[in-house]
Amino acid sequence: MAEKSIIVIGAGVAGLCAGVYARQNGFNCTILEMHTQPGGLCTSWRRRGYIVDGCIHWLVGSSPANGLHRLWQEVGLVQGRRFIDLEIFQVLEDRQGRSFTFYTDPEKLEREMLALAPQDAAAIREFVDGLRFALKFNPPMGDKTGLAAALETGGFLLYLLPRMRTFRKWLGTTSAALEKRFSDPLLRRAIREMWLDDFSIFFVLSTLAWLQRKEAGYPIGGSLPMMHAVEERFLSLGGQVRYGAQVEKILVEGGRAAGVRLADGNELKADIVISAADGHATIFDMLDGKYVDDSIRAMYDTWKLFPGIIFIGLGVNRTFELEPQSVVGTSFELAKPIMVAGREVKSLCPNIFNFDPTLAPAGKTVMRMEIESSYAYWKQLHENPAAYEAEKKAIGEAVVRGLEQRWPGISSQVEMIDIATPVTFERYTGNWKGSFEGWLMTPSNGMARVKKTLPGLANFYMAGQWVSPGGGLPSGVMTAREVVQMICKAEGRKFTTRID
Ligand SMILES: Cc1cc2nc3c(=O)[nH]c(=O)nc-3n(C[C@H](O)[C@H](O)[C@H](O)COP(=O)(O)OP(=O)(O)OC[C@H]3O[C@@H](n4cnc5c(N)ncnc54)[C@H](O)[C@@H]3O)c2cc1C
Repeated sequence: MAEKSIIVIGAGVAGLCAGVYARQNGFNCTILEMHTQPGGLCTSWRRRGYIVDGCIHWLVGSSPANGLHRLWQEVGLVQGRRFIDLEIFQVLEDRQGRSFTFYTDPEKLEREMLALAPQDAAAIREFVDGLRFALKFNPPMGDKTGLAAALETGGFLLYLLPRMRTFRKWLGTTSAALEKRFSDPLLRRAIREMWLDDFSIFFVLSTLAWLQRKEAGYPIGGSLPMMHAVEERFLSLGGQVRYGAQVEKILVEGGRAAGVRLADGNELKADIVISAADGHATIFDMLDGKYVDDSIRAMYDTWKLFPGIIFIGLGVNRTFELEPQSVVGTSFELAKPIMVAGREVKSLCPNIFNFDPTLAPAGKTVMRMEIESSYAYWKQLHENPAAYEAEKKAIGEAVVRGLEQRWPGISSQVEMIDIATPVTFERYTGNWKGSFEGWLMTPSNGMARVKKTLPGLANFYMAGQWVSPGGGLPSGVMTAREVVQMICKAEGRKFTTRID
């Protein structure tokens, strides 16, 4: 019997993983990617001898202790890769010379917080107890099937039931609300900078717990090598990837997805189409908004997105061996705030890659920073290329002036500055409004399950961050696996996967 064919739109992590699972289950599979390389948002690029990593801080599932590890093995991402686990999440400094080390270990964290702000003891104990709760919270990760999966889910529900109130409490608390419980300005900043204002604290606590359990390490070499490994796995299984292939429309015949039309006018037929590209573009452009219901409309009308960011990569001709190695960097208050894209920025948090020597030549270091910034601002500015470039240049200079306050002399050591804006993210990956991780995980949508199909359209599936609030690389592999399982079920075959 001839193999059924699947077209996957997008070679980001979700598209590549969908391709691997499709091949493992005997489907003829072609991935179409508009860019010239795999990875989508999970990428890195070379600039003047440095490698700027545009993504990874931590990979949930880096160690076998986490259920996701098995999925990463199935798609060939973790084999042969070295991960490092850092015990410090962030370091924060204020202008009075105080410093706060945000440990992932609850005992160390509690001691550090109490020493800094004994007057906040009640809020500190409550927060650290939240971390202790998250450390014991171990939901199923989708690595098991059949009876084993049912037993695991049952066991987890039995564990959760008596703890539902605590779970709900943390799920319903945002960073903005938590910050208000602290009086110490440095601790307030630490809570504020942990993540975004509307983000549910439960997911921040879960991240701290994964880091502490050494299940979410940083992969030496960074993002792109991981994506090349999954691409290789897909190719070795007989899959095909076409780069420079931008999908314009999804073809529909008799209520079934039947293939795609590319921007160059070529049409490619397939039995099944999986879109692992931007959700908004898929639903409202490639399918002209014809396959939506009220819940999909409400989602795209009301859910919050991860905001636009200005992403700044710097190559510095010096080492930082005395600076602590931390997951997200050292945040310091500026004596004189700087203006960035019309907004006053009072502190900078460079992530110093002094733990990955592969990113810079010997004796040199890569730093990176992310600063929240409005997509609308940059979209408008981009219409005037000279003004857009001038703004980027001014931001680079302002940031280096800011770094000079913390590391005097650094301006003469900065050899490379690379700046990406929300428009850059949009142009390179097609993500709606330049969002770098899709839907924000808020108290209201944190537990929502997004359907991987569209109403009225057969043989069509969606994978990736737009069908999994919170996004991240795990959402890529998990949704990819789920849609191929759904396809296998619809085709009446048993889903299989293996580790090579
Ligand atoms: C600065 C930053 C830090 C991050 N840190 C982490 C982290 O530490 N850990 C973590 O797990 N996650 C992190 N993420 C998030 C993670 O990178 C994303 O959530 C994830 O990579 C999204 O994968 P995806 O496959 O769903 O989507 P994408 O990566 O957006 O892939 C979609 C692909 O589809 C292609 N495409 C779009 N439209 C078309 C079209 N019309 N035709 C053909 N191809 C098309 C795009 O070019 C792209 O390659 C970070 C992201 C950023 C930007």
